[in-house]
Amino acid sequence: MIKNLLNLFFPKVCLSCDNLLEHNEVYVCTVCRHELPLTNFGSITDNEVSKILYGRVHLRYASTLLWFSKKGLVQHLIHNLKYKGHEEVGVFLGQWFGQELNKYVEFRTVDVVIPVPLHSKRLRQRGYNQVDKFGKELAAALKCDYNSVILQKVKSTKTQVFKDRIKRWINDDTLFLVTEYDSLKGKHILLVDDIITTGATIETCANALLKIEGVTISVATMAIAE
Ligand SMILES: [Zn+2]
Repeated sequence: MIKNLLNLFFPKVCLSCDNLLEHNEVYVCTVCRHELPLTNFGSITDNEVSKILYGRVHLRYASTLLWFSKKGLVQHLIHNLKYKGHEEVGVFLGQWFGQELNKYVEFRTVDVVIPVPLHSKRLRQRGYNQVDKFGKELAAALKCDYNSVILQKVKSTKTQVFKDRIKRWINDDTLFLVTEYDSLKGKHILLVDDIITTGATIETCANALLKIEGVTISVATMAIAE
């Protein structure tokens, strides 16, 4: 009753299309759930994410849930997540993707989920790392640990992104550091991020983590740029 009243005065809208949600819908409406462009990557070793990173960093498995296109439903979802304070988008995508990943025996060997970190200044501005809830839900689904402190971003990013892929690079000021090298020795790490575009961030983070003795790395992201 109270919930219905609250809904009357503060109607909940779909985080993907802004239409009003029905009382039985949570976060995203049923229509969007059907229309969101799933990648349905059948292979977890040979897909678009693996292809982007092939030859740059050694990964065990890689997967992503959605195709990201500018002006699409996914763009609106991610915009709500990153700039409108809607952290629950991460919960929604994490629960969904967690169920999917858990179907693969390969992902069930993951020991710890680690999010791509934000610089502390950005973290203060936004109030949260937009990958945090997503990563926690994946860890819950895969029944493993979640660690958001071991990997840190220590300087401001000066990202230069040009149309030409060859010219895409991340300035040397971007520095990802592992804070300690003992507790994760030999572990299977699942590195998670929001959108994979050039793969430069994932590559840099993975290479930092690979300095830990005996670790192997897999990657899961919410979306991949088309
Ligand atoms: Zn919708």
